[in-house]
Amino acid sequence: MNTKELWEKCLSEIELSISKANFTTWFKNTSIVREEGGTLYVGVPNEFVKDWLYNKFHKLILKTIIGYEEGVRSIEYIIYKNEAVNKNIENTIVKQMNINKELPLNDLYMNKEDNLNPKYNFNSFVVGPFNELAYAVAQAIITNPGQNYNPFFIYGGTGLGKTHMIQAIGNTIKIKHPSKKIYYVSLERFAIDYINSIQNKNPNSFKEKYRKYDVIIMDDIQFISGKDKTQEELFHLFNTLYESNKQIIFSSDKHPNFIQGLEERLQSRFASGMTVQIVEPDYESRIAIIKAKFESTNSIIDNEIVSYLAEILEGNIRELEGSLNTIICQTQLKNKALSLNEIKILIKNNIKPKKTVAIKDIVEIISNHYGISKEVIYEKTRRKEIVKARQVAMYILREDFNISYPLIGSKLGGRDHTTAIHSHLKIKEDLKTDPALLQEIEKIRIMFK
Ligand code: ADP
Ligand code: MG
Repeated sequence: MNTKELWEKCLSEIELSISKANFTTWFKNTSIVREEGGTLYVGVPNEFVKDWLYNKFHKLILKTIIGYEEGVRSIEYIIYKNEAVNKNIENTIVKQMNINKELPLNDLYMNKEDNLNPKYNFNSFVVGPFNELAYAVAQAIITNPGQNYNPFFIYGGTGLGKTHMIQAIGNTIKIKHPSKKIYYVSLERFAIDYINSIQNKNPNSFKEKYRKYDVIIMDDIQFISGKDKTQEELFHLFNTLYESNKQIIFSSDKHPNFIQGLEERLQSRFASGMTVQIVEPDYESRIAIIKAKFESTNSIIDNEIVSYLAEILEGNIRELEGSLNTIICQTQLKNKALSLNEIKILIKNNIKPKKTVAIKDIVEIISNHYGISKEVIYEKTRRKEIVKARQVAMYILREDFNISYPLIGSKLGGRDHTTAIHSHLKIKEDLKTDPALLQEIEKIRIMFK
């Protein structure tokens, strides 16, 4: 069966199991773009649809496809650009959002008043070194919304649990403070809302709507890039909410200083409260996540397999879940536990080669950039321009490659880990007020890509 036929078959089956409105909204304009080593790449028109398919329909899609093609190991959703189609789907989504008010809850899971999905809570949430600071702040906010950490800005790569965390904050506040009005919205949705209000010549209803909440949770704020009018509107909304001590929570895939084309005044407001990064989970946290996931589906798995999976499934949690779903799905189909060997074969295509980086290569690139010889970085020299290059190197090693402070210190001329910490924080601080430095670092980053 070719991929076109396969997708058509799947769609006709999926169509039967969900409402017509949902089907047209989320599956129209999708196609299988390519197949590679057991992974099917499903093309979708935009980030919004991509998230929905991931969060709401992934299991259904995978199960349906495996029904036709046993060899399929996993599915990835990729954005397949087509402007005309996008415009069209945006309108459909807006309509669908309205229709959904009448749909049964379990159809889309989320609560239509506040857009919170009850499946995101802290019971199933694993806390480890990779996200514990964000978690601690979250707990403080839940106790006293709007008081201490405002705004709360969480950033980190895709699939590391930002949406889960900020939704869980909303769900928990809802339970502890039933009188508070909470609202979760993605930046894309917020922008569409805003555009609609202008098109309908009713900007005030938009302003009133967003100003009435006690807690606003805004997801994927990085998509504000290039949306000047939306930035302006968000700026005023932010000030109003902030001045009346309303809790504001943002998520982004990058630090405010690195969101392209973000107005400076918004940049400084975003970073004016508590800004916390979530990184990739460490080995022990991956063990905990894998165990939790198997437990939640009542599947039994032995420790040897858990350790194996934690060892090889590095990186983001969404991908890790993807591999676990493949395993759980196959286990259910076969109706018996898989052996380690079967699992190895099953997920071999999901394993990415480790991101290896040679520290000395990074140092070389950076010293070239600053026009100094790479040897001096390792030496004791305190010349100003060398100190700076060294600090930038330490910053990048930590920030982009997640290398530990002790290792950075020792590799860069046998220095103490406190020097690495100091350098990292120094550059981080400087970046807040020095756009030229930011540009410099972005230029260096391009050379690693
Ligand atoms: P992001 O918004 O950062 O892209 P998500 O919040 O969508 O990531 O998380 C991706 C998937 O990983 C979700 O299914 C989520 O439930 C799961 N997940 C994320 N963080 C955790 C965690 N700490 N413990 C358990 N599951 C998690
Ligand atoms: Mg997200």
